[in-house]
Amino acid sequence: MRKRSDISEFDLINDYFACMTAQREDVALGIGDDAALLRVPQGMELAVSVDTLVAGVHFFPDISPSDLGHKVLAVNLSDLAAMGAEPAWATLALTLPGVDGLWISEFCRGFSELAAHYDLQLVGGDTTSGPLSITVQVQGLLPMGEGLTRSGAQVGDDIYVTGTLGDAALALVCKRDGDDRQGMPQLLERLDRPIPRVEAGIALRGFASSVIDISDGLAADLGHILQSSGVGASVDLDRIPLSPPVTASLKKTNDWSLIIAGGDDYELCFTLPPVHRDQVASISRRIGVTMTRVGVIDAQTDLRCLLPDGSLWSPEHTGYEHFSRSDGDN
Ligand code: ADP
Ligand code: MG
Repeated sequence: MRKRSDISEFDLINDYFACMTAQREDVALGIGDDAALLRVPQGMELAVSVDTLVAGVHFFPDISPSDLGHKVLAVNLSDLAAMGAEPAWATLALTLPGVDGLWISEFCRGFSELAAHYDLQLVGGDTTSGPLSITVQVQGLLPMGEGLTRSGAQVGDDIYVTGTLGDAALALVCKRDGDDRQGMPQLLERLDRPIPRVEAGIALRGFASSVIDISDGLAADLGHILQSSGVGASVDLDRIPLSPPVTASLKKTNDWSLIIAGGDDYELCFTLPPVHRDQVASISRRIGVTMTRVGVIDAQTDLRCLLPDGSLWSPEHTGYEHFSRSDGDN
């Protein structure tokens, strides 16, 4: 539905989007008609996920449009990664305060560069006028019945995380405080241009007993695995992989909440039986993504975070208070 009078400008936008991403053979009909027609190969299942980013809630209004185009696709691909799905198609619903050609072309550049990396085709969408908000739905493919879920963690399983945690949360705090510390460009890269762990998710098919992507902090997201699986866990905080700037910040503040309740990490947290440790190490080497064992699933009903001296550490807040995430979850 068109929501403003300058239809020709929106037609231009549609034309722009039409040639923005790869042309896949399994797209019978892409942008330009009332709906896209897509072919799911026999024996495959479709994984579908949608996320919305709203200006002022999920991103600073001054974020570069190319970073925003990247991020809105990346957060969706992170959900596909957590299911072990291979990205295939996406739709994009854009609400824009006005038509700014430069802004749109930069947004498209960020979106399409990431899409090209995964041979993902944009197959449709909607463009409306209003306060800046972006919704992307992604569709991915996986062999029938092989989807990785939150509900299979078993007592005795190891708990792993990919990459490092807390970088995006620290970037957000530094940005808010105007703190231009050492390592800031790398931290901002983690906040504005997260890398979805798609290869890791695909490689974990058939091994992992449960997987989730960490968007709201390890404590909350591992908590979802525990709840869905009906188990508990203990995590050794000193095993959590940290980048040098986050290590430096922790030394100063001694506050773990940034790291395990901060959010926007877009790493994967997964569980599997200890018998697979060698396979995890070889997957990690093959795809070039670190996978660190941080804890173990047990029969208790909650998550316990252990400090290096063996004492329990409890976060003061389940979500990091500066982020006002209660109305902005993904
Ligand atoms: P309709 O009124 O039938 O929904 P639109 O004018 O909204 O038609 O869209 C025309 C075509 O352009 C459709 O194929 C639609 O999927 C596509 N389209 C519109 N906006 C976008 C967008 N932001 N990204 C990708 N495709 C879009
Ligand atoms: Mg429409």
